[in-house]
Amino acid sequence: MNAINQAVKPAVERAPSYYSASLNFETDYPTLQGSVTVDVAIIGGGFTGIATAVELAERGLKVAVVETNKVGWGASGRNGGQVTGSLSGDEAMRKQMRNTLGDEVDDFIWHLRWRGHEIIKNRVAKYGIDCDLKHGHLHTAMKASHMDELKATYDEALRRGMGEDVTLLDAAGVRAQLSSDLYCGALKNTRNMHLHPLNLCIGEAKAAESLGALIFEHSEVLDIVHGPRPAVVTKGGRIEAKQVLLAGDVYHKLERRKLKGLIFPAMGGIVTTAPLGDLAKEINPQDLAVYDCRFVLDYYRLTADGRLLFGGGCNYSGRDSRDIAGELRPCIESTFPQLKGVQIDYQWSCAMGIVMNRIPQLGKLSSNVWYCQGYSGHGIATTHIMGEIMAKAITGDLEQYDTFAACKHIKVPLGDQLGNPMLAAGMWYYQMLEKLR
Ligand SMILES: Cc1cc2nc3c(=O)[nH]c(=O)nc-3n(C[C@H](O)[C@H](O)[C@H](O)COP(=O)(O)OP(=O)(O)OC[C@H]3O[C@@H](n4cnc5c(N)ncnc54)[C@H](O)[C@@H]3O)c2cc1C
Repeated sequence: MNAINQAVKPAVERAPSYYSASLNFETDYPTLQGSVTVDVAIIGGGFTGIATAVELAERGLKVAVVETNKVGWGASGRNGGQVTGSLSGDEAMRKQMRNTLGDEVDDFIWHLRWRGHEIIKNRVAKYGIDCDLKHGHLHTAMKASHMDELKATYDEALRRGMGEDVTLLDAAGVRAQLSSDLYCGALKNTRNMHLHPLNLCIGEAKAAESLGALIFEHSEVLDIVHGPRPAVVTKGGRIEAKQVLLAGDVYHKLERRKLKGLIFPAMGGIVTTAPLGDLAKEINPQDLAVYDCRFVLDYYRLTADGRLLFGGGCNYSGRDSRDIAGELRPCIESTFPQLKGVQIDYQWSCAMGIVMNRIPQLGKLSSNVWYCQGYSGHGIATTHIMGEIMAKAITGDLEQYDTFAACKHIKVPLGDQLGNPMLAAGMWYYQMLEKLR
């Protein structure tokens, strides 16, 4: 019953996961060889790179994306698939952006929180991307103080005219939506979405390609050449461009002098059970994506073929966990005792880029070389928002870019050695606070 079956459908050069085993199609882009000239060269084939490529190609620019592994190989193809209306660093943003935006800051952040949803929905419809897109989230409370938080979010949604999308539930209300006794309440939000992230990412790559974008896989960028005509250099080739965007998030090691100490890896683990058959409808009849209010939280949802996809915990050592299924099984079984002993078919982990103040980092490395990174575990919607902001900036509309670029970030000295221990200490502190509230 407990056997781990990773070999249902072998993945091609991708981390073995439920997502890579249920791809709509495998990508097969060439390796960069020789010399290519484009308007914009983008380093990294995750959501940040690919979403920006679509935006730029739609504006008529010639774009090339260069990826070390495969499109969607990083966090974009291995995450929980929950499209939330949180930008992760909302509170820190509000404080810092008040300096530039004054009283407009609340409206600015509110609008952005939902912009990623619109971009994704429109793109999925426009390019016919099959990625199991569904609406509906439950943000669950495990104690009274969590309910205060959810009530504040609910009140803001009502004030902003989003009343049709949100419902505040007590314990009995949650029980009617979810067959679990773990929660004392929840906020149901039907504007939030969930989806198959890898199928979205490769679908968007195909959309970019259909607009003339060049995509290269198995092509690690080893160096960025700065100057009036910047270039990115791989082992076998070189792309000259008018502008370059570095979108490698926590996986790249480029431009260390300027970027070292700004972003740190946290490893997240996810498992997927065997298909649950009728049990799937029984535990989650409305097919909602669920996540709780704790600082280090559990999150889960059903897949299109009725498996439970469950993620949780986080490891700030920067190293992979050895037994993800062993760590997550007790969480699954305490949430849904009916799943005791359920078979786990897939387990995987991936690094997410954590920023100390949780505000996405974007800026310039030289006059025509840009970077954009760091979504602290809330990247599906945010990468798409940033893709739009970066495309606007690259084509001359700097308004939103400037607001983000003006934010101050903590640069940890000796970042490679001290960053993760500092993160772990910070997390421990917040988890202690969590216990007390
Ligand atoms: C376990 C886990 C669960 C998550 N769950 C959610 C969730 O449910 N909802 C949510 O909103 N967010 C979630 N996230 C966060 C989200 O997945 C990320 O924030 C987002 O995908 C980051 O996208 P990206 O394109 O910036 O980075 P990535 O997807 O990591 O892509 C970066 C790419 O750059 C490439 N690269 C790096 N260096 C180079 C180089 N030198 N040359 C060429 N290519 C290079 C890498 O190979 C990689 O493919 C989760 C993350 C993890 C790890």
